Amino acid sequence: MSRIAYVNGRYLPAREASVNVEDRGYQFADGVYEVCEVRDGKLVDAPRHLARLQRSLGELRITQPMPMPALEFVMRETVRRNRVNYGLVYLQITRGVARRDHAFPLQKIAPSVVVTAKNLSYEKNQESARKGIAVITTPENRWPRVDIKSVSLLPNVLAKQAAREAGAYEAWFVDKEGFVTEGSSSNAWIVTADGRVITRKADNYILSGITRAVLMNVLEALQLRLEERAFTAAEACGAAEAFVTSASQIVMPVVKIDGHVIGAGKPGSVSTRLREEFHRFAHLS
Ligand code: PLP
Repeated sequence: MSRIAYVNGRYLPAREASVNVEDRGYQFADGVYEVCEVRDGKLVDAPRHLARLQRSLGELRITQPMPMPALEFVMRETVRRNRVNYGLVYLQITRGVARRDHAFPLQKIAPSVVVTAKNLSYEKNQESARKGIAVITTPENRWPRVDIKSVSLLPNVLAKQAAREAGAYEAWFVDKEGFVTEGSSSNAWIVTADGRVITRKADNYILSGITRAVLMNVLEALQLRLEERAFTAAEACGAAEAFVTSASQIVMPVVKIDGHVIGAGKPGSVSTRLREEFHRFAHLS
């Protein structure tokens, strides 16, 4: 079965789907995106993802291409046409097509919309969660507005590649003060020996993860203590547990940071429980 992509109003076989060479997303990374998990063919937490998308568009003054319910419909339709049962749906909106010039085009242009969806292996993801992942740390070198989910991801790409080359799965950015900001494509968390669950507060220096937000509801329901504060890489290395959250990984236990073994060197009980409970609190549509 050929994969289907939605491009500016049309559902096309992926090999025929293309964007203009003067699309500002291609030229300047002048665009935003969202990624939703797909479970049982349904979108996980779509309303929260779309609310964040709306905020990202607003921060960059990119025109909203269509009402949010219409965008959600396109996402669901792309999932359906690709027969995705478990996987991800990707939505990208760029400022549009114009003759190359850094400043915004003078005339009004239509934003470009692309939606793709793919199946993932549930078993492979579960297997990673059973084993836990290794992370490395890397100096923070992104702009101070990473709260906007922009497609400008070069530092994230390089950090992830450094992790791969070091035999790790994720890279945690560390700011000048020595505090972990977040992962290259995930939020970072630790658990203390007395069971406090810690993650950095959502300011301009991290992406306010939707998985992070839902997990906070889970923590509350399970009466686990949350501390929203920064932690250093050294504190993380000495923590009882560590994990990352993202739409594609949900709660993924971390068992090694820069080669230091975390806790007992296997996924901890809090991380494992949070992963198991997560979807009871997630919204499906
Ligand atoms: N931080 C970064 C840099 C990300 O790219 C992502 C997800 O892609 C996240 C955090 C987690 O966000 P979410 O839980 O909404 O997927």
